[in-house]
Amino acid sequence: MLRPAARLVGADRAERLLLPVERAAKSLMFDCRMCGQCVLRTTGMACPTVCGKVMRNGPCGGVRADGACEVDASMRCVWLEALDGRRRIGADVALSRAPIDFSRRGSSTWLQLVEGTPQPTPQPAPPHRDRPTHAFEAACRSGRFVTTVEIAPPDSADPSMLLARAANFAGLVDAVNITDGAGGNCHMSSAAAAAILAAHGHTPVCQIACRDRNRIAVQGDILGAAALGVRNILCLTGDDVSQGDHPQAKPVFDLDAVTLLHIARGMRDRGEFASGRRLDVPPDLFLGATANPFAPPYEDRVANLELKIEAGAQFIQTQFCFDLDLFARFMDAVRRRGLHERAHIIVGVGTLSSVKALRWMAHHVPGVHVPDSVLSRIAGAPDQKAEGLVVLVETIQALRRMEGVGGVHLMGHRNEETLAEAIRRSGVRESQDRQSN
Ligand code: SF4
Repeated sequence: MLRPAARLVGADRAERLLLPVERAAKSLMFDCRMCGQCVLRTTGMACPTVCGKVMRNGPCGGVRADGACEVDASMRCVWLEALDGRRRIGADVALSRAPIDFSRRGSSTWLQLVEGTPQPTPQPAPPHRDRPTHAFEAACRSGRFVTTVEIAPPDSADPSMLLARAANFAGLVDAVNITDGAGGNCHMSSAAAAAILAAHGHTPVCQIACRDRNRIAVQGDILGAAALGVRNILCLTGDDVSQGDHPQAKPVFDLDAVTLLHIARGMRDRGEFASGRRLDVPPDLFLGATANPFAPPYEDRVANLELKIEAGAQFIQTQFCFDLDLFARFMDAVRRRGLHERAHIIVGVGTLSSVKALRWMAHHVPGVHVPDSVLSRIAGAPDQKAEGLVVLVETIQALRRMEGVGGVHLMGHRNEETLAEAIRRSGVRESQDRQSN
């Protein structure tokens, strides 16, 4: 109805008239930052631009147990607000939203609505073309129970430490993840460390976090890593910088994990950058994403996983699983939606040397949940480290029996020997070998 009036006064003048009213109304009601591409109608009227990580497609994995934000504990996670709002007004939160177009910042979304300007939505990539599969993808596709491990790249310009850490897992894992500034701490770059491992016969998974690089740098890294033989990319949003050794650093968060997946998939399947510019040779990628079934909002975690799978995730690696009951409920919902048939679900597991270290992790590492039953079992053991290993082995074996679980992902900072021992004792490797023979 307003369109003819807007045409009559002209777009520039209409925007000059609308902007102050829109800014005042939306700042007052929604703490609006005038991103120029309002999504309030699809987020239960909660503005995701106030999120410390600018998450456009659902909560990060760091939401605290009480629902507070990982970045700002005085604020409730905006995606919990969105979930409440969705219930109130029946809007669809689980919707893929495009990365913010920063060139539209400060413009009027009301005028765009009046003029019928289409809002950007991520383009679906064409069906996956047939292509050669590489070692890790082939292992996942084979249907056998896979094992992966995460190692931190060294604080060194010498790769020997990295190679020594990876050597602990020779013959025990299908792929080695290289973290990307995990916890906001600085180490050798993930792409470089992954390329070193690939050159030495390992199968790396290069983790790419959105925290430190914008879309230009991220796409350059994906191409560079692929040119150096790194095919497996884990797309993640990244931890807040305040947890790490450079709390003064500027967090970038130009993209979130879902938009990064859309872009990486477009590079591979459409052979183009996010800008639409053609690539001469597209990267041949096996794409992964993370999931955290152990952080609120629990009821929305499966929808969030589905969003990542739709965006292009072919394998999923989860946060530490210490709570098998909670994870079993998550997997029930995953199976009901058939998501385990669309992506390989690899469950994060690990152990620490003492109950004190476990408690510290549960309180300080965003998104980690350790139930009291596990804490008291380890606290009551005469040798806490040995008991932690027993719990880890039992957890791996229980996950091995859980329908829809495709493997385990072992994590533990500088704890390589214990993790390698857990794989051996769990027996999952022997059963893998039997399956592949
Ligand atoms: S918890 Fe994560 S998703 Fe929620 S507001 Fe904070 S940074 Fe954003």
